[in-house]
Order: sequence, then C-alpha cells, then structure tokens
Amino acid sequence: QRQKYIRNFSIVAHIDHGKSTLADRILELTDTVAKRDMKNQILDNMPVERERGITVKLNAVQLTYHAKDGHDYIFHLIDTPGHADFSYEVSRSLAACEGAILVVDASQGVEAQTIANVYLAIKDNLKIIPDINKIDLPSAQPEKTKKEIEDVIGIDASNAAETSAKYGTGVPDLMEKIVHDIPAPKGDVAGPLKALVFDSAYDDYRGVVLSVRLYSGYVKVGDRIRMMNGKHEFTVTEVGVNSPKPIAKKYLMAGDVGYITASIKDITTTRVGDTVTKVDRPAKHPLPGYKERKPMVYAGLYPTSNSKFEELRESLEKLKLNDAALEFKPESSKALGFGFRCGFLGLLHMSVVQERLEQEFNMSLITTAPSVTYKAILNDGKVKKVENPYDMPDPGTTKEIEEPYVKVTVMTPSKYIGAVMKLCQDRRGQYKTMRYLDKYHVDIVYSMPLSEIIYDFYDHLKSKTRGYASYTYELEGYKPSDLVKIDILLNGDKVDALSFISHRSFAYSRSREMVTKLKKLIPRQNFEIPVQAAIGAKIIARATIKPYRKDVTGPLYGGDQTRKDKLLKKQKEGKKRMKAVGKVVIPQSAFMAVFKTD
Ligand code: GDP
Ligand code: MG
Repeated sequence: QRQKYIRNFSIVAHIDHGKSTLADRILELTDTVAKRDMKNQILDNMPVERERGITVKLNAVQLTYHAKDGHDYIFHLIDTPGHADFSYEVSRSLAACEGAILVVDASQGVEAQTIANVYLAIKDNLKIIPDINKIDLPSAQPEKTKKEIEDVIGIDASNAAETSAKYGTGVPDLMEKIVHDIPAPKGDVAGPLKALVFDSAYDDYRGVVLSVRLYSGYVKVGDRIRMMNGKHEFTVTEVGVNSPKPIAKKYLMAGDVGYITASIKDITTTRVGDTVTKVDRPAKHPLPGYKERKPMVYAGLYPTSNSKFEELRESLEKLKLNDAALEFKPESSKALGFGFRCGFLGLLHMSVVQERLEQEFNMSLITTAPSVTYKAILNDGKVKKVENPYDMPDPGTTKEIEEPYVKVTVMTPSKYIGAVMKLCQDRRGQYKTMRYLDKYHVDIVYSMPLSEIIYDFYDHLKSKTRGYASYTYELEGYKPSDLVKIDILLNGDKVDALSFISHRSFAYSRSREMVTKLKKLIPRQNFEIPVQAAIGAKIIARATIKPYRKDVTGPLYGGDQTRKDKLLKKQKEGKKRMKAVGKVVIPQSAFMAVFKTD
C-alpha cells in the first residue's frame, strides 16, 4: 500500500538556525532540483524573502527518497518561517504533517521561537526529531545543545541528528531517521474526501490554488468538490504536487500533500482552514481547521495615487489568499485620501505586506505609523474601539482609555538578567516571574503594554544581550492607562495620518522628538512651514521648516504640472514614496517617524 511509503514533515526552528538551508540539502540529495537550478535557500522564492534572507511563507514540496531499505519513499517537506510574526504559517504547516524536524543551531542553542514552535508541534501530537545543526562552526556545542533541549523543552535528545546543513554533513542519516521515526500517514482512501486547506494563492491563469493535505478519500480532475464551511462548489481542473515546480498528477489520495485548482476566480469563496469534500459523497464533518489570528497592530495603507484605490483593494484580496492573517477595511483620511486600515500580526508582517504589494502587485503605497487598538470608555459607559489614533475621542468625552497588555517572556542567559529587567521596566513593564530553565538560562516574565514592545523592543533587547536573548509574547487583555492623543499640525493644518497616542509621561519628550524629526524629513518649500504637536488645542512642541532660497531647488515642488508628474514618476521608480498634503509634500519616512525612536 502506498501510504506506508509516505512521510509528511515540517522543518521548524528559531529564525536563522538553518531550516531553509537544510531543505536545500534534502532537495539536492534526492535530485529534486537539477544541480544547475540549485541556489541557496531555494524555497525562499518570493522577492521579499530573497531580499531579506528570511522565510516568510510556508513552502510544501514533494520529493522521492531512495532509502537504505531499498524502498522509495515520498517525502512531503514543509519549510516554515522562524520569526514570531509568522507562527501562523508554522501552525498551519504542522496540521498537514505527522512529524517535525526541530532544527537547533549548535552555537546558539535553544531560543524563544525554538520553544514556541516545538510546543506547537507537541500540541499537534507530532513526532519530533531534534536536529543539532551548524556542527561545522568552531563555536558549535552539540552536547550542550542536546542537554538544553532536554532541560528546557523536556524531550529526549540523546538520539538527535547532528548536521551541517551548509556542507551536507549528517543529512543522509537524518533522512533515514525521517523514514524510521516519523509515522506514515493514516486515513481511509476509500472514505469520503476530506482535504484540509492549509494555504492558498492566486494565479492569474489557474485562479485560486489550494494547498491541501488529504485526510481521507481521493480527488481527481473532473470531481465536483464543495468547501464544507464556505458551501461553494467547483469542478476540479487540476491536482498535483510542488516539486518545487507544480507537477500535475492523476489524483491525490489520503496521506498526500499537494494542490487543487478548480478555476476559482471569486477569491472570497475559499478560506484557509476549510475542508474540501465531494458533492456526490460528502464527509459528515469538516476537519477542525485553525483558530483565527487576531491582528496585533494596525496601520493605514494608501495608494500614492488616489486613482489606484480599487486596484489596491483587488491586490489586498489576492494577497489575503496567500496571507490568511492579513485583515483590511476601507478608511479615508483627509490628508491621504482613500485607503485601507490593515491589521497585522507584527511589524515585520506589516513591512512584508507592504513590500509584497509593491513587488508582486506593482502598487506604490504610503503606510501610516502602526498603532495598537485602544479602547475608549466614554462618559456614557459605551466602549469605542480605536484602531486609528486620530479617531480617539476628545479627553472631555472619555472616562478612561485602555490599552492592550501582553505577557512577555524573555529567554536570556542569566548574566543579562539585570539588563533585561531594566529594559522591561523602562517600558512600563510589571515584573511577574523568573525561572531558571537550566544552569545558564532563565526566562523572565513581564506584563507590558503591547505598544512598548511592537516597535523596537527586539532591537534593544538584542543589543543589550549581545544577541543572546529572545522573546515571545501573548495577549493578556486590556488595562487602563494614562494616555493622550497628540495631533500634528503642518502649516497650521492637522494632518490626521500623523496623529499618535502616547503615555502622558512621554508626551512632551515624544512630541519634541517628533517635530524635530519631521523638520528634518519634510522637504522645504518656498514658504515657512511651522510643525506643531498639540494635545487638544494646546501646542506642546514646535519646530519650523525654513523656506529654501529661491534659486537653488526653485521649481522642484512648484505648481508646474509636467514637472510634478515627472517628479512623481521618479519617486515611484525610486520607491521614494511621497504624498502632497495641501501645499506640503510629506515623504513616507515622516509617517514612520513616530515609532522609530533613537
Ligand atoms: P532559517 O531562517 O532557519 O531558514 O535559516 P537559513 O537556512 O536561512 O540559514 C541562516 C544562515 O545560517 C544562512 O546564512 C546559512 O548559510 C547559515 N547556515 C545554515 N546552516 C548552516 C550550517 O550548518 N553551518 C553554517 N556554518 N552555517 C549555516
Ligand atoms: Mg528559512
């Protein structure tokens, strides 16, 4: 029986521990990719992944491994991202697998996302194969790392694989471990079709491409299928696997990981987490699916040209198919026109979305500063959710403002305890607990406002601990805070997209910082531009942008339309995004000034 020779597994790890490089070696060893087509981290095929050198999307490939027992095994390997913002990709990948390879960098040891990701795998009852990677490094400590895995995570690592994904050492042994340790998929091929949609993408020619894991039954071209939650029905036009290029197959059966297309053009009809079944013989119950992720931060996305609003909507809808965590709804701004308020899982997610919209959908965008969602308790007791700082009601009309708090767990070598605690306290953190994981590591738990950690907490944490500390966080709930809304006025006009919320104790210092930065970032005009920060009607900080001397940059930002057009075109090409607000031109960097603290 074919299922006996199938192995489905994900590769999980903290960022940079070598998942994608290990996938490269596995693809090479099995001749899945021709030598001449091979390149580093070949599964990181999106432009944004290659530019940044990180994995953003899960990527499922099929390959054939000729094992020592003489049999050919079909491996479905899913490479996953390591950054916390993309853990939704990891949990969806794991739901399609029986096993996971837990890669741990032998020079770094166990880090926060190692723990977070392995817990996801344990929760799903997957067989976990620990793999100590980068053993070629002089600083590698395989034995210490194994002990850490046992002490910190609590799984047996005595039989862990040891690899150098870079040079291929140990990878053949790991392949054998996959064959022997990871169970073959179960599931009744003769039963009704149940296929879990764990990912999707939009293709201009084929329509929606569903990535599926079949748990029972089989599917082939011509079958009438139904989305069990969405209820929509389609006729299958192609089934196949990625290897890593798409290869059409006659059918997919229980245990397989592959794709289905069905000329689905209406992107709203399919959903990640849904179950595909057949119309003539439907399954009784859908598969469990996934818990939806709630966005952590919101920001406005506006086309630099107002006429591109509809195009942006279409692009967002298509992107959402491939990025299930993305949320958006239309909003308008006096300064920026029509755009969308978008919800993201974190700042990296936000900048990846922006880049994908530009690279894959050819949009030119202005993004406003990210903000968490506040709750304003109004005088009449009503609660108003505030996703855009500008919408914060006036101080006189509110009883209280609440902000989201998170439980932050920082994992650090014990010698940095002092530095980590100081950082957390400076950011309004309340100490909860500390626990020694082993002799050298502790995890420290703080309750902190989400707004204090989403921006640059990571950078500060890394620099204060020589890169050795890592952290994760989860939402705790809303707590009242002494917050104020600060408006920014340019040339006397409030620019709604620049408003921000600050704790009262930082209001003056942040306002001063903000106007000073805007003064530097906003191009001069032929008139003086006052930049002011205000709480209500009260101005609390001010700077002035001096006019330029006429002869130097004279006509650059003047009224001449053809020049303006040329300029806009040039900006678009150079991705120097700007927006004219009244008579003032505001560059993209100005919208971000609010949260990039030095
Ligand atoms: P991922 O984030 O877990 O997918 O990690 P990548 O596969 O992108 O690798 C991160 C970095 O570590 C890259 O620069 C790789 O070349 C490097 N790397 C991966 N595996 C090894 C290894 O076994 N030895 C050494 N020396 N470097 C490695
Ligand atoms: Mg990777």
